[in-house]
Amino acid sequence: MEFNTKLLHGKAVKPYDEGATIPPIAQVTAFAYPSAEDQEKVFTHKAAGFAYSRIGNPTVAAFEQRMNELEGGNACIACSSGMSAVTLALMNILCAGDEIIAGAGLYGGTIDLFEDLTKFGIKTHFVKHVTPEEIEPFVNEHTRVIYGELIGNPGLAIMDVPSVAAYAHSKGLPLIVDATTTTPYVANPLKLGADVVVHSTSKYLNGGGNSVSGVIVDGAKFKWDFDRFQALAGYKKFGILAYTIRLRTDIWENFGACLSPMNAFMNIVGLETLGLRMERITSNAKKLAEALSRIEGVTVNYPTLSTSPYHELAERELRGLGGGILTFRVGSKEKAFRILDSLTYVTRASNLGDVRTLALHPQSTLYNRSSREMQEAAGVYADTIRVSVGIEDIDDLIWDFENAIKNA
Ligand SMILES: *Cc1c(COP(=O)(O)O)cnc(C)c1O
Repeated sequence: MEFNTKLLHGKAVKPYDEGATIPPIAQVTAFAYPSAEDQEKVFTHKAAGFAYSRIGNPTVAAFEQRMNELEGGNACIACSSGMSAVTLALMNILCAGDEIIAGAGLYGGTIDLFEDLTKFGIKTHFVKHVTPEEIEPFVNEHTRVIYGELIGNPGLAIMDVPSVAAYAHSKGLPLIVDATTTTPYVANPLKLGADVVVHSTSKYLNGGGNSVSGVIVDGAKFKWDFDRFQALAGYKKFGILAYTIRLRTDIWENFGACLSPMNAFMNIVGLETLGLRMERITSNAKKLAEALSRIEGVTVNYPTLSTSPYHELAERELRGLGGGILTFRVGSKEKAFRILDSLTYVTRASNLGDVRTLALHPQSTLYNRSSREMQEAAGVYADTIRVSVGIEDIDDLIWDFENAIKNA
C-alpha cells in the first residue's frame, strides 16, 4: 500500500460506530461500566477499555493508531502539544544528574525547555551539528540520550540518522528525533535507526492550523540497560516495551498532558490529506527557494539547493525532498520587517505546516529569549525571514515575495 492509500485504508483505519467513515468525537470525560468488577479490570489493565479521558479516549486512540502506523512504530502516545511530547519523551528516561546531548539548531521552545530542565538537575550539552564526531567529546557516564531534529527548524540542518543512531547505540544510548518538519511523508526516523520519534502535530500533520497537539512514537527496539536507566528500573520486566509502558501508565498519565478528543478529531481529518498537501508544499518550497535565490542581495537556505551543505543528504535520506520551510537573509532587520509588512498573500504568523503560507522574523519572535550564540546556531540572524510554504499557486507566491522585496 502506498502512502496516500495508507492514509485512507491502512490497518489503523477501522470501521467506526454506526458506519461512521471517520471516528466520531468522544467528547466525554469518563466512561461508565455495568459492574464494579468490569471497572476494576479496566483500571488494572486486565481488560481493554476506557476509564477517563486523561488516560485514554476512543477518538484520541484512533489518532494515535493512525500516527503509529504511518511512523512504523510499536506504540504512539498523543499529547496536548508538541512541547509536552518533547518534554515527556525525555522525562520518561531521565533522572536528576542525567545529561542530554542535543543539536544546537533546535526549535526555540525546545532550547528553552533544556534550560528549564537544569532546575531539575538535568544538563544539556549542545552540539552545532548532530554528528558522531561532535557528540563524542560530551559522552560520559551521565549521558542518557541523544536528541535532535531531522530537519532542524529553522536552521534546516539535516541529521544523518543512520550514522548518529549507530554511534548512539554503540554507546548504549537511545536517539530521540523530532520529525515535525519532515512528517512521515518525507521520512520515517524509526526505520532510519532512531528509537523514539516526536512530532508537534500542530503543524503539517494537522495541516489546517486549528489544533495544538503532539505525539511520541516508540519503536520499541532499544535494549534498555536498567542499571543505567534508573528511571525505567521499575519496568524491567517489560524489556524493550519498558519505555512505552512507563510513559503510558506513569509519566504521561500523571503529568496530565493529554490530547483533547476534539483536537484528535481535527488531526485525523487533517491527516487524511497529508500526502497531497506535502507533495504540493515540498514542490512549492523548492520552486520558491530557487526563485528567491535568483534575486540579488538575498541569500536563501533550503536543503535541496546546491548551495546547501545538506543537498546530498536530502537526496539519500529524504527522497530528495527538502521539506516545507525555507529561510532567507535580506541584509538588515529593517529590510526584513519592510518585506514582511508588504506581503499580500503571505500571513505573518508563528505557526508552520499550515495550508497557507506563513512568514515571520524568528529573531524577534521565537528566539527573542535565546542568546546570540544559540540564535546563530539555529541559523537565525537579525535579517533572517522564515517561511512556512503553503499550498497556494506557486506563481502567486513567487510574485508576492518578489514584489515585497522590490518594494522594500
Ligand atoms: C512547533 C514545534 C514544536 C513545539 O510544538 P507545539 O505543538 O507548538 O507545542 C516542537 N518541535 C518543533 C520542530 C516544532 O516546530
